[in-house]
Order: sequence, then structure tokens, then C-alpha cells
Amino acid sequence: MRPFELKSPRTLREAILALPDDHRPGGARLLAGGQDLLTVLGGDIEQPDALVRLAGVPDLDQLVVSPNGDLELGALVTVQALADHVGVQQAFPALAEAASSIASPQIRSQATVGGNLNQRPRCPYYRHPDVVCFKKGGNTCLAEFGYSKYAAILGGGPSYFVHPSDLAPALLALDATFHLVGKTGSRAVRAREYYVLSDVALDTESVRRADEVLVKVTVPAQPKGMRSTYYKFKERSSYDFALVSAAVAVRVAGGKIAEARVVLGGVAPKPWHAPEAEAALVGQPMAGAAWRAAGEAAVKDALPLEHNGYKVHLVKGVLHRALESIA
Ligand SMILES: Cc1cc2nc3c(=O)[nH]c(=O)nc-3n(C[C@H](O)[C@H](O)[C@H](O)COP(=O)(O)OP(=O)(O)OC[C@H]3O[C@@H](n4cnc5c(N)ncnc54)[C@H](O)[C@@H]3O)c2cc1C
Repeated sequence: MRPFELKSPRTLREAILALPDDHRPGGARLLAGGQDLLTVLGGDIEQPDALVRLAGVPDLDQLVVSPNGDLELGALVTVQALADHVGVQQAFPALAEAASSIASPQIRSQATVGGNLNQRPRCPYYRHPDVVCFKKGGNTCLAEFGYSKYAAILGGGPSYFVHPSDLAPALLALDATFHLVGKTGSRAVRAREYYVLSDVALDTESVRRADEVLVKVTVPAQPKGMRSTYYKFKERSSYDFALVSAAVAVRVAGGKIAEARVVLGGVAPKPWHAPEAEAALVGQPMAGAAWRAAGEAAVKDALPLEHNGYKVHLVKGVLHRALESIA
């Protein structure tokens, strides 16, 4: 790990002023729980000149379910606090399940919501200190023609990493909004519009500008009767990232699916909203035929690489299990 300056702002304004104007390599980075950033630094994958520690900034650790059922989630709320919150478990099960699926209790107790949503790719090539891929300013994606077991089957190219966050698909399915504050003011971005594919940007995974802090996430009270879940398939039974996951929210009325939201994880460089799968569900009875049709629709445009064709089948199974579990 190379030397860096540690800045400990006491206000949000001080934190923002310590951030660079662009995502250039070597610029200052925000430090939350450090569970991703410190491994990135330790592996010499990034070499920031300064870390801006968020822990001293007040009011970023609030977790509130309001009387009307809306959720407000500060960026410094830990993943474990989110998983343990009874109000979240009852009103937003997909989010609580996604949180409890992440890593280990030790990591969850340090990892924050803001850090989880902004963590960098876990692609083994990106994480290798000797590889200079597209994501590190190079001119190749080794996953495309090399070992592609963990790579994207949807939305890939030029880079084929998959977005690693478990919280992100759940928040997209619950129609959350991300709130950002930067040097020029604040803005709210719908979670569905926060993440970008690698043909839009290679030096970042989202629309967040380098001088912006994600300060909080808000989730609206879900429509009456809406049920949600997060189903994650991982390679190891102990902690692991998703090979494929599905966040689903479904409302059934009069025996038919009236509303459906489907977001996949582990398949694309961003959490993958699947409107085709939603269309296959709406208007159908909440039963196997619709779940199978949704799975087929979700992977209709999949373009697997040499070693990840299994993910096409896995998406169908994971989606079926997720829908079955809330039926
Ligand atoms: C062994 C292991 C297993 C893991 N398994 C999983 C898993 O199964 N599922 C999963 O989803 N994750 C998993 N993770 C990743 C882990 O969840 C993240 O590393 C963690 O959530 C990051 O949060 P943090 O607060 O530690 O962020 P940090 O490491 O401090 O920051 C991560 C990134 O986010 C940026 N950042 C932090 N806060 C903000 C903010 N408020 N606004 C803007 N940018 C910000 C930082 O600059 C940095 O680039 C695993 C990690 C490890 C080490």
C-alpha cells in the first residue's frame, strides 16, 4: 500500500471540498467502512493521494421508517444494522434479505450502505495488481477472451465485470432514490438511473461525480399488498458474492399479478432491471407458467462468453425460486 494523506472532515462541506473534480487515478477517495477501499489500496489497484474519512461527518448514520412507511437510510448505516432492523424486515424484506446475505457478520458490522453501493468491481482481472484492463486505463478486457466464469452475460462490453453489490438490486426493485451532495449542490437520482454500463464510463460504475457524496437513500412505502424478496445463488455456502441473484417485488390482485419488478444481480456491469420479465408476469396467475416465462424473457438478450453459459440457466432457476418463495 502506498502512502496517502488521511483527511478527517467534521462537516459534509469539508468532505466535499476535499474531493477531486474528476475520477482521475490518484485523486482523493471517500473512506467509509474501508471493507472495499482498503483491499483496493492493499492490492495497489488504486493509488489515491488522500482518503477522506466520512466517519466524523454528522447525521449520515440515520435509519428511519417514517409513520407513513417511507424509509430513509443514511450512507453510514452499517449493512448489519440494516439487516437487523425489524421495521425494514417487515416492510422491505428484499432489502433486509439482501443485507443479511452480504459477506460475514464482521464485515457487515463495518461495511456501510454508501460503501456497498459504490464498491468497485470484484472481477479477478481488475483485482490483479499486474493486469491493466479497461477499468484501469488499459485497452483490453481479459474476461472477454480469458477466464469468463464470473463475467457478464448481459450489457457487457467493452468491459465484462459484474456489479458486486447485493443491496443495489434490492433497492432498484423497491424503487429507491439516491441523494447526492457535491460542490455545485445536491440532486436526487432514481436508483434505476444511478448505475451505468461500461460503454458509458470505464473509470466509474455510476453517474456519481467525483466530488459528490452519496448522503442517503430513500425508499418509498411499498404499495399495499406488494411482497418482495432477494434470492442469491453463490458458489460457497459460507460468505460469497452472488453468481446470480434476483430481487423481485410483486403485487397480486384478483388472482393475477397486477405489478411486478425484477432486478438481477451478478449478470451485468450494473444491477440489471428486466422489464421483459416484468411484462411476462403482469396479468398472469402467480404460478409456475408465468415464472418460467419471466425467466425466458429475462435472458432473451443474453450473450454468454466461453465459461459463463451456466448463468443463463441459473437466472431462470433463481428467478423461479424467488417468485415461488413469495407466492
Ligand atoms: C470478504 C468480503 C466478502 C464480501 N461479500 C460481499 C457480498 O456478498 N455482497 C456484497 O454486496 N458485498 C460484499 N462485499 C463487499 C462489501 O460489502 C463492501 O466492501 C462494503 O459494503 C463496502 O462498504 P464500506 O463502508 O466498507 O466502503 P469503503 O470500502 O469505505 O468504500 C467503498 C467504495 O465506496 C466509496 N464510498 C464509500 N462511501 C461513499 C459515499 N457515502 N458516497 C460515495 N462513495 C462512497 C469509496 O470511495 C470506495 O470507492 C464483501 C467484501 C469482502 C471483503
